[in-house]
Amino acid sequence: MAVVWLEKLLRLQELDLRLRDLEARLRLLPREMSDMVAKRDALAADTKAAQDAARKVELAVKAGESGIESLQKENLKLQQQSALVKNNKEYQAMLAAVEQNKQKIGELEERTLLLMDDLDAARKRVLKVAADNAAATSTLKAEFDELLAFSGEVKKEIAKLQTARPAYLRDIDADTLRQYNVLLGGKMPSTPVVEVENGICGNCHLKVTPQTQNLLRKGDVAVCDNCQHFIYDAAACGVK
Ligand SMILES: [Zn+2]
Repeated sequence: MAVVWLEKLLRLQELDLRLRDLEARLRLLPREMSDMVAKRDALAADTKAAQDAARKVELAVKAGESGIESLQKENLKLQQQSALVKNNKEYQAMLAAVEQNKQKIGELEERTLLLMDDLDAARKRVLKVAADNAAATSTLKAEFDELLAFSGEVKKEIAKLQTARPAYLRDIDADTLRQYNVLLGGKMPSTPVVEVENGICGNCHLKVTPQTQNLLRKGDVAVCDNCQHFIYDAAACGVK
């Protein structure tokens, strides 16, 4: 009778430990999933930063080009107006203005050429960063979907175990069950029913008293004097 009772208790414990593991796993999932969402957002932000950087250089190139164009227009206008100058002084002033603009154009051209090199590099970087991040994002998405499916499976198994559980409680007396529940899910969750091997409790790893050992050898289930867990001798009980 004790053996049948122990087997029932061990079956219940197997179910409850599985349930406890699944519930612990389930509790971790939202955090893992939100970490993934944050990683995805970081990848998108990284791609956007590369695009923005390239755009900034592109605007600087355009500003350089339009600066050159307006100086060239200004020079053309100055030269067209040269026919209207009244004296040599005005003519010299016009020439000086044209010369100054040419110098500015030269400087702008030099700067703009360098910027065009930068733009080239920035565009290449955008392509690389975008491709790398797109690949990383799609891996992340696959992992996220996997986790989502896993979460569904875990929930399903938990529901199945919870439905099955009442049948496992049959024939286990209320006192045992109360003590069992305290050990299973109390402040320090543990395995309520443990084996004693070589006189050592499987939970607290202390030696059980000789009197208790005598009980265990007869195939009884006892309570550890130290940690109050249910203890048994597997060989004496004929259970594994
Ligand atoms: Zn113990």
